[in-house]
Amino acid sequence: MPETFDSRPRFDTVLIANRGEIATRIQKACRELGLKTVVVYSEADRQAPYGKTADSALCIGPSSAAKSYLNKDALLLAARLTDAGAIHPGYGFLSENAAFADAVEKAGLTFIGPSASSIEAMGDKISAKRAMIAAGVPCVPGPDTALADDPAAVERLAREIGYPVIIKAAGGGGGRGMRVVPEAGLLQEAVALTREEARQAFGSPSLYMEKFLQHPRHIEIQVLCDTHGNAVWLGHRDCSMQRRHQKVVEEAPAPGISPDVIRPVGRACVEACRQIGYRGVGTFEFLYEDGAFYFIEMNTRLQVEHPVTEMTSGIDIVQAQIKVAQGDPLELAQADVRCEGHAFECRINAEDPDTFLPSAGIITSLAFPEGTGIRVDTHIHAGYKVPPYYDSLIAKLIVHAPTRAEAMARMREALVETRVDGISTNIPFLRALFEDGAFARGETDIHYLEQWLKQRRAP
Ligand code: ADP
Repeated sequence: MPETFDSRPRFDTVLIANRGEIATRIQKACRELGLKTVVVYSEADRQAPYGKTADSALCIGPSSAAKSYLNKDALLLAARLTDAGAIHPGYGFLSENAAFADAVEKAGLTFIGPSASSIEAMGDKISAKRAMIAAGVPCVPGPDTALADDPAAVERLAREIGYPVIIKAAGGGGGRGMRVVPEAGLLQEAVALTREEARQAFGSPSLYMEKFLQHPRHIEIQVLCDTHGNAVWLGHRDCSMQRRHQKVVEEAPAPGISPDVIRPVGRACVEACRQIGYRGVGTFEFLYEDGAFYFIEMNTRLQVEHPVTEMTSGIDIVQAQIKVAQGDPLELAQADVRCEGHAFECRINAEDPDTFLPSAGIITSLAFPEGTGIRVDTHIHAGYKVPPYYDSLIAKLIVHAPTRAEAMARMREALVETRVDGISTNIPFLRALFEDGAFARGETDIHYLEQWLKQRRAP
């Protein structure tokens, strides 16, 4: 066993504070590492298959997420009752909640994620931007300070940056708390509205301003850091295919970006991790326009789209995350990271393929593709009842092939072979998207999918 300089205890049991496909994914990683798992579930998830394969399974509350998956006390009690030594928060729910990370550590358990102070620092977009500028990470033009109250100063700043600008809440998230301002006449009202929204939704009126980029792509860099000062980046992903700021299809690597262009950005991300003493996995999100990268935010958790990086890098990111939480040093240096081939991920959602309204109910039968370069991350099975209370993601279909064109062809075929009956899913929409010429040529930006949908709806 490697020597660890970490005072936190090693653990042999992990409580999974999440549900759905990611609960299955984390359980698999734990079992492969020889760790026991505790599954917690709401009353609506009583039937979840991962509960049956766990070493212990406990109901932590009613269907409402606020009373179950977001109930910190219930989760800590469940950990105590089952002798769990660590809590994996997955994504969403409490994964980026600094108070929860702190409470877990104060209870003498390991939070499988970064420290509460890292979560807090990156959760405030102004302090995150400041830390990135200090580490040499390129950011969107605009100051790393909060917007002044003085209307004349705000106007001067907007003129300096140049219209269009975007006003963003420092504590914003989930695509909320931001407003684009195309011209000076609309500035003061936009600031007032966003400030009020920020105060109500995020509990802080703090705002900042930056340049609004008109046709960017969304490109992100996956990092992995241990508690011994080692950090690596595991290549990049393109997540430009978004509907209402929600990612629909992700791929790795981002097409058409030369290694020479992305390398300094990856290095800067690693440097930023060292400077802030980051531990675990994390993602730096960038907008990419006209050959330049602009940092927008850091996600201090595992992401839904981590499998495309696993497929190209060959690294099990969830296992690596757990090992780091045990205090182990990274098993690889940057020179060992080699990304090969191309991977796509489709998010299969229980929703109407035309209206995108959620579709709950019983899955009567289903079929998933199998074979070389195909992976399906899911918790569903025939007879499974999709509850109406949570995110509509029911499965992730992931493919890997030597080239982007081959990976696209593999995904097209995989989507033809995928069938989920009894409820509506977005599979028909995904099939149509993978037939699109501009997407095949890699000529898309973050607005492309919305425009594509509008055109499809036009009579
Ligand atoms: P959130 O934390 O709410 O996800 P982000 O800062 O990540 O907020 O921004 C969400 C999305 O908003 C981005 O993916 C992008 O589509 C858009 N966006 C944010 N900042 C800018 C900007 N400066 N210019 C253009 N679009 C932006």
